[in-house]
Amino acid sequence: MQTTEKIWRNGSFVPWEDAQVHVLTHALHYGTGVFEGIRAYDTPSGVAVFRLTDHMERFRRSASLYEMDLGYTTEELAAAVHATLAVNEIGSCYVRPIAFRGAGPMGLYPLDNPVEVIIAVWPWGAYLGEEALDKGVSCKISSFRRIGPNTLPPAAKASGQYINSVLAKLEASRCGFDEAILLNEEGYVADGSGENVFVVRDGVLYTPPTTASCLPGITRATVIRMATALGIEVRQTNLVRTDLYFGDEVFLCGTAAEVTPVASIDGHQTGGRGPLTKQLQDTFFATVNGRDERFADMLEYPVGAEVA
Ligand code: PMP
Repeated sequence: MQTTEKIWRNGSFVPWEDAQVHVLTHALHYGTGVFEGIRAYDTPSGVAVFRLTDHMERFRRSASLYEMDLGYTTEELAAAVHATLAVNEIGSCYVRPIAFRGAGPMGLYPLDNPVEVIIAVWPWGAYLGEEALDKGVSCKISSFRRIGPNTLPPAAKASGQYINSVLAKLEASRCGFDEAILLNEEGYVADGSGENVFVVRDGVLYTPPTTASCLPGITRATVIRMATALGIEVRQTNLVRTDLYFGDEVFLCGTAAEVTPVASIDGHQTGGRGPLTKQLQDTFFATVNGRDERFADMLEYPVGAEVA
């Protein structure tokens, strides 16, 4: 991991190596953290953060489920992200805000433990590898089921629930696959270990509804918006594993993974980066890199910054 100089912690900057926690941090024992994954991109008008406000609103929703008071408004957190980018003099990178219950009383009742909020930024290239953006990844349908709305609600992005994704990722990797796709308890496709899933069939784009226990991904919403604008029909509907096996094209999307084609699922070959995947991937990268005016409203610059 490539480090940067400073991390924003509870309102001020600390050197990267000093941003430590106590071993009795509540979140370390019980998973009581909520976080976001965001990307910033270099654009001709300066560094822009992709859908920053939407990410911060999801952060706030996640925190509210676990009764954590973030102590900062969405605007303040957004400004803190821009400030962290500026102080580290960094361009395209990954942005990780996390709020967690710190050291204090032990036990499951968390409300007497302090909430800490940090924002870290660092360079992070293509999550599933640069080559995957072109060639696609191999996926395995996990034998682990996705957590559900009445166990660990997937609509919130909480640290503890990622143990579910870690199990799926470990299994997929042990079996020689690049990534795992999880089914929900009912057997319908939910999402990847850290990405949403889309399938193309006869020119129509399908993706599971958020009621299928997938994270309401911000890249997912972006892809739906772009596809609709490009005249591609999008249907949010329950999918079974054979819908993926028989898909003309399948792709994963997420902040880290951006738009990554799927080359095969459980060994069944797909069309890889077929025409619709390519069109959406190209539109996505043109937008985030500030080269597509149609979706420029999704790029957020520091307040007061001049946008060319
Ligand atoms: N599903 C899961 C399980 C994830 O962890 C992520 C990454 N946050 C996504 C989907 C994609 O969400 P987003 O596009 O908001 O990054």
